[in-house]
Amino acid sequence: MFKHKSAIVTGSTSGIGLGIARALARNGADVMLNGFGDAQEIEFTRAELERQFGIQVRYSSADMSRPDQVREMVARAHDEFGKVDIVVNNAGIQHVAPIEEFADEKWDAVMAINLSSAFHIIKAVTPGMKARRFGRIINVASAHGLTASPFKSAYVAAKHGLIGLSKTIAVELAEFGVTSNTICPGYVKTPLVEKQIADQARAHGISPEEVVRNVMLSHQARKEFIQVEELAALAVFLASDAAASMTGTALAMDGGWTLH
Ligand code: NAD
Repeated sequence: MFKHKSAIVTGSTSGIGLGIARALARNGADVMLNGFGDAQEIEFTRAELERQFGIQVRYSSADMSRPDQVREMVARAHDEFGKVDIVVNNAGIQHVAPIEEFADEKWDAVMAINLSSAFHIIKAVTPGMKARRFGRIINVASAHGLTASPFKSAYVAAKHGLIGLSKTIAVELAEFGVTSNTICPGYVKTPLVEKQIADQARAHGISPEEVVRNVMLSHQARKEFIQVEELAALAVFLASDAAASMTGTALAMDGGWTLH
């Protein structure tokens, strides 16, 4: 489906991003991986994807909180693949604290990684996408892009902002064959959420089991974590020709959390 297409997936050394990168690769796209982690493990994943799907996979260690590194990553993707057709803005971090204790540096880091990195990437890939009259921008926000929970001021603000950015890009680039959509997942059991279970337990003063049952999945009518593969399938659809007329949407895949 994506033969001769190339993609950058930010935050793809783990969790949702890795699942999306794998699904794009399975469908024939060359992929630029990005994110932090153990160098050997990342190289293993990179080589395995190349071998399994017969495509090119590169890795960039760019820190999404650093605009210069974001731009370098995009430039390298252009050098390696000749173009960038698909961008998945997925890198994200969480910080959980009551507003009066919320550290300024944490606010800045969440904003930089979860929101500003998307701005810098989109800005850098837009000229090429416009010129080729094709582009797929897929932003991974959250149910927290549509609703709020206590103690997550920066995350909720950044994710709402990401949806706003995506909608703006959608109207700006619609006539150039470039779409921009946002996926809003409910809770997915990735390393990010494993860490949150412990943080939330501390913030709420309850056990980890109670966090899962009474805090995380309390709003998800389906009462099950979302699977990475389900989100990856949605990203593949959004990147496909079948989604050419879908742009500016914020699609909830949240087990019925934000339907009320
Ligand atoms: P994760 O922690 O498993 O993966 C996050 C990825 O981002 C990793 O590859 C990590 O190395 C990378 N990353 C973190 N900081 C970075 C930086 N400064 N520069 C480059 N890469 C960086 O998390 P996940 O659960 O897979 O989350 C992926 C996205 O999905 C995030 O934007 C998150 O907000 C969103 N999301 C997650 C859930 C969930 O329940 N897990 C729900 C809704 C939305």
